[in-house]
Amino acid sequence: MVKKVFFLMLFITTCFGATSSNQIWQKGFTFLQFLETYKIPANVYWDLYQEDKELTAEIYAGVRYYTLIDDNNTLLQALIPLNDEIQIHIAKENETYKIDFIPVKYFSTTNSIALSIQKSPYQDIVDLTGDINLANEFVNTYKNTINFSRNILKDDKLALIYHSKYRLGRAFGTPDIKASLVETNGIPNFLFAYSDGKYYDQNGNGISRLLLQIPVQNARISSRFSLNRLHPILKDKRPHYGVDYAAPHGTNVKAAANGKVVFAGTKSGYGKIVEIIHENGLKTLYAHLSKINAKKGQQVKTGQIIGKVGKSGLSTGAHLHFGLYRNNKPINPLSNINSKKVVLTKEQKVEFLKLAKQYEEQLKIAIIDNLDSQAPSYFVLN
Ligand SMILES: [Zn+2]
Repeated sequence: MVKKVFFLMLFITTCFGATSSNQIWQKGFTFLQFLETYKIPANVYWDLYQEDKELTAEIYAGVRYYTLIDDNNTLLQALIPLNDEIQIHIAKENETYKIDFIPVKYFSTTNSIALSIQKSPYQDIVDLTGDINLANEFVNTYKNTINFSRNILKDDKLALIYHSKYRLGRAFGTPDIKASLVETNGIPNFLFAYSDGKYYDQNGNGISRLLLQIPVQNARISSRFSLNRLHPILKDKRPHYGVDYAAPHGTNVKAAANGKVVFAGTKSGYGKIVEIIHENGLKTLYAHLSKINAKKGQQVKTGQIIGKVGKSGLSTGAHLHFGLYRNNKPINPLSNINSKKVVLTKEQKVEFLKLAKQYEEQLKIAIIDNLDSQAPSYFVLN
């Protein structure tokens, strides 16, 4: 009994003696600097598998991370998200630390909004929801189809169905737009997200996207992109947020599309890298370079040489790790390389049209409910 009480007391003091807090990951801050800040031996990083080292390089500036620290300023636990799906979990175990990768736990809600445009689609969405990410996402979605500054009239309608994620009581990540409508001159422009993650108009025609060029010539793909959702118990599968092209050391690496260099330097795990931001908010990453031929802030053209293939930041053979991101979310580069117009198969189209009809109905309801108006006549649904 005495023993039990003792352990209970110990448990309570442990809980009360620890402080949890959350911070924003600052620009330029690295995982190794994080370890140093909390006096965690660097070998917990160096002992990681190569693919896990690469994953730590996926932490991006602006992400909110969580720490649990005891009275002696010792870090007990930390959670650092890499994206909406996976986070690094650091835990003190006896006198050492353990690092693993675990799924981000979140719940999501479906929201709908409708508004009549007064300033601009972007500004009106921000004014109504306070969500800059949502407004950006909306603008990106229509980027290649509509010129907002030219074609929209005051009082044109806009409606959105989207999913928002929440983690530990806060909104996080970028909202997923599932269906959207924006009028231009009173004419409706619908876009619907299909299960392949791409957007289509109400007839099932894919919208044109940024096409990427292969960044290395005559290279063999040695590892493909995979999101490999982590197994919650086994945790043995790792995602691979890019495509690896095996190529001889020194082979030219070329910009996959026009854009602006936003980073050129070293990042532990990825070695020497170049990051380029493109239209539509897309970003490409070129890692393990032996040489960098680009500068931060530089405008580059498709096919321009930005570096050379190497094996910096790793122990295995020379290759280019090529990553593609949208709002810090890794996407498969191969689905954006040299691809023709997106076409749905016959079966997909049937499924898509059914889905689009449901979304159209939800958009109609959003307009009726939020704008207190009749459904516009272009909704042929009843
Ligand atoms: Zn890779």
